[in-house]
Amino acid sequence: MKVLIIEDDREIIEAISLALQMRWPEANVVSTRLGAKGVELVESEYPDIVILDLGLPDVNGFEVLHQIRLFSDVPTIILTVRSDEADVVKGLEWGADDYIIKPFRQMELLARVRSLIRRQTPAEEELLVYGPLRLNVMTGQLNYNDKEVALTITEKRILSHMMKNAGHVVTHSSLAEAVWGDDYPGATDSLKVHIRRLREKIETDPSQPQLILTRTGIGYFLAKPE
Ligand code: CA
Repeated sequence: MKVLIIEDDREIIEAISLALQMRWPEANVVSTRLGAKGVELVESEYPDIVILDLGLPDVNGFEVLHQIRLFSDVPTIILTVRSDEADVVKGLEWGADDYIIKPFRQMELLARVRSLIRRQTPAEEELLVYGPLRLNVMTGQLNYNDKEVALTITEKRILSHMMKNAGHVVTHSSLAEAVWGDDYPGATDSLKVHIRRLREKIETDPSQPQLILTRTGIGYFLAKPE
């Protein structure tokens, strides 16, 4: 496994490298403090995953993400001190697969990295169907009332867990397990952001969701679509 870290804080690079190497001794970590160099390294090093800081000395992290997405689908986690939800949503819109807010817990970082590099185990059912919702669990392509929506890996895991449990409330904890393989402090807040993004993609009016309903303090409920 090769991990590319684009980050200008030496201590954070060291902390991430250490965490990764404890969990995956064979992991190969490449890093740079410059965004432009990071884009080059994606091209020349073929990393399995990229961890990208937003505040870089040369180029803004969003711009780095944009440039990477012009030629690569490499799973990318944004690492940021900005806990503003708008920034996080922007990152996901620009093609990030997930995000981590600094300061982060080692367990959280590892759960997210593991979730993105986890090999797609061939699913028993490749196509999940619920009412008019059709989700291809291999590609993350969702078809819904003539709409075609591309989901990120995280969104796909959230929605497929909800579709498999349609008609029941899925708890925050069971969703975190399904998505990251672990429930950890902060998972509920992360789920909230991904759910919001999912609603923006599939609900007619995301502020009045008709499909993905909130059960306050418990989790979410997938309503039978019209
Ligand atoms: Ca920085």
